[in-house]
Amino acid sequence: MKLLKFGGTSVANAPNIKRVKSIIANNQDKQVVVVSAFGGVTDLLLNALELAASGDVSYREVLAQIEARHFDTIKTLFPVTAQSSIISKVKSELNELETLLEGAYLIGETTSRLSDKVVSYGELLSSYIISEYFKTEGLDASLKSGRELIVTNANFGNASVDFKTTNAVCQSFFKDQNHKITVVPGFVAATAKGDATTLGRGGSDYTAAIIAAALEAEKLEIWTDVSGLFTANPKLVKQAKCVTHISYEEAMELSHFGAKVIYPPTIQPVLHKQIPIIIKNTFEPEKEGTLITKNTNGGGKTVRGISHIEHISLLSLEGPGMVGIPGISKRFFETISTIGVSVVLITQASSEHSICIGIADKDVEKAVKAVNEAFEYEIASNKLHPVVVESSLAIVALVGDNMKSHQGLSGKMFATLGKNNVNIRAIAQGASERNISTVINKVDIKKALNALHEAFFEENTKQLNLFVMGCGNVGSKLLAQLEQQHKYLKKELKLNVRVIGISNSKKMIFDEGGIALTQWKTALDAGEKTDRAAFIQKVKELNLRNSIFVDNTANAAIASTYSDYLSNSISVVTCNKIACSSEYQNYLSLKQLAKKYNAPFLFETNVGAGLPILDTLKHLIVSGDKVKKIQAVLSGSLNFVFNNFNNSTTFHDVVKQAQEQGYTEPDPTIDLSGVDVARKILILARESGYQLELEDIENNSFLPEESLQTSSNKDFFASLVKYESDFQKLYKSAADKNCKLKYVAQFEDGKAKVGLQEIPQGHDFYNLEGSDNIVLFYTERYPQQPLIIKGAGAGADVTASGIFADIVRIGNF
Ligand code: ADP
Ligand code: ASP
Ligand code: MG
Repeated sequence: MKLLKFGGTSVANAPNIKRVKSIIANNQDKQVVVVSAFGGVTDLLLNALELAASGDVSYREVLAQIEARHFDTIKTLFPVTAQSSIISKVKSELNELETLLEGAYLIGETTSRLSDKVVSYGELLSSYIISEYFKTEGLDASLKSGRELIVTNANFGNASVDFKTTNAVCQSFFKDQNHKITVVPGFVAATAKGDATTLGRGGSDYTAAIIAAALEAEKLEIWTDVSGLFTANPKLVKQAKCVTHISYEEAMELSHFGAKVIYPPTIQPVLHKQIPIIIKNTFEPEKEGTLITKNTNGGGKTVRGISHIEHISLLSLEGPGMVGIPGISKRFFETISTIGVSVVLITQASSEHSICIGIADKDVEKAVKAVNEAFEYEIASNKLHPVVVESSLAIVALVGDNMKSHQGLSGKMFATLGKNNVNIRAIAQGASERNISTVINKVDIKKALNALHEAFFEENTKQLNLFVMGCGNVGSKLLAQLEQQHKYLKKELKLNVRVIGISNSKKMIFDEGGIALTQWKTALDAGEKTDRAAFIQKVKELNLRNSIFVDNTANAAIASTYSDYLSNSISVVTCNKIACSSEYQNYLSLKQLAKKYNAPFLFETNVGAGLPILDTLKHLIVSGDKVKKIQAVLSGSLNFVFNNFNNSTTFHDVVKQAQEQGYTEPDPTIDLSGVDVARKILILARESGYQLELEDIENNSFLPEESLQTSSNKDFFASLVKYESDFQKLYKSAADKNCKLKYVAQFEDGKAKVGLQEIPQGHDFYNLEGSDNIVLFYTERYPQQPLIIKGAGAGADVTASGIFADIVRIGNF
């Protein structure tokens, strides 16, 4: 005998029921087929009753909806000639249902007894229609009501099964059952007196398990809408994988903590008889699914799954009177149990100063009232404080048989959540050590599940979620590099780098699944209008793990948003120098926020574009070295200009060329005035541990005052033409001495200056080509011969690759 159970989605409509039929028809054995109500009908029934009981006539509309669902299905499943008898039987059941609802409407209230009766119609109707359909299709099928097979006590809403009677009834009925297929409605049962009861939401699984155990069936097949029990709910964790073999205990623990694919009580009856359970997908029957049996050795794994329960509240009882007074816990739990509230999680600190339990949000009001009443005396005499409630929480649990023999799992769990700024409100570990549970805010659920899944199941593959601001020269190169290297990063560095948001000054787009980088331009053109506040809001709302904000602009307003990102644990990578060269206090506070919220703030490209200057400096400092002096040529733009400027070119033309080739900032005065170099040496000094402001840097600009004062690029270039002879003089003076002009930045004895210098032959700076940069670090460990870093220090490609390197650094963080 085989037991098959088909859930709500599997029987939601005519096409799905046809699939069910073909699965059944393939089996040769005798079968009991347990079916749920058509998907969504149980909710509709409960909704109709609630409306009716609250005096809202719209319950009739809901009833009409229920009727339409069933009639539509009948009309598609059956030939016209067979429809009328089935419709009239269903109609007469629905008339009875209407009478019950009308009763609730007139009286203005409902009871759990009535609710059980009403909600049973879902399974009663679905099982009738499905059994008739099987017969029409030529299968040897009959219908047997679950009410006649499963006997329970009268605890309406969540009745307990009388196994002794139930087993006897099932055995005697099936002993004489000659039909090959028996269709049984799930979820519904009855008391010994024949009153309708139900087995709790999701209870059709349980019906099937009860009958399987009574008949000692060879196996129990649960057919649903997912291909098995997954490492986490696949609707929230895309990377979740099917667990092909798992123990009864692990499955039970996972389902208790929210893996709804199997209703928790289902396992107990089959576990006793050691009947294997198989979870299969009605829509992909060829998939292996999950086998649940006795011992599986944990499949060689420690953590088998991550489950979660939403809508949880924490209830805490605290007070000085807790300590040393025996019996408070006992009274507390007795109170909770008397009002029928189930406790999902318990934590108690060893100081005995407080008891804290997790219960469903819906039970809070009842529980608070009961506990405050039970401890009225202690509260009045200040021995205890009134109960404290925190709502809108969720539980996330790691489950696995082998967890008990492994250290460090909880550490890894908490560290993973901590890194992602998921606040842990409470922790509990089951005595079986098969479970570690944490209570977190509901809004963090998706992030927490995905981050934990990554840490425990994805062979250390880490997903980085980028939000890219600015896609001009540098930004578009970065996106191209990310596209090109995507596969490599995934394979070699185990980094799955996805771009979730892109914005320029006009448009912005988001795609939670990752923007296709081959088509980002077209997508952005069709995007919504840029709104910076909305951009930040969206990044926060998405609340994705390992989120990184990437600033490819030179915009001050954007630099001012970094603190908002960092304080939400969103890392920041930027080539924009404004933040790090603003007031020291601002620079410092961004670094402190980064530390506090565990979100790196990286700006390698602020100095020397893609050259590893800041990273090298950081390594010198952390290893205990001290910077004595820095000498550098840090402006790729000025270097390009002075390398190309001579007596056969004009200064104006060379600067224009530098601008056109992307070697200058959008506003070239920032480079030519030396401000850009001053910002860079300021950042180097600060990163070396010195507290300096931009005004402290001596800037000996070579530009005439008039050029410095221009307010547009046009005026600036005009002034360069006007002062051409001055520039030629600078060139001649250097050339006469066989020197080259370089704009040099220097930091020594806590002081920094920048300015044009005539560099003689043989000097480290003399042969600096094109837009190259060079930095000489004189430190305690490099006193005479400096540590030198040299290479291209400007250009969109190298800057983009420097940003890329910062992103990868965060990936390895
Ligand atoms: P049915 O109606 O067939 O009984 P349910 O909706 O009760 O189906 O259960 C199946 C659902 O369980 C899946 O669609 C999925 O969203 C959810 N689920 C939660 N956790 C898990 C998990 N760990 N593995 C598989 N499914 C899960
Ligand atoms: N129809 C019931 C419910 O939705 C039982 C089940 O589907 O298992 O809860
Ligand atoms: Mg279910």
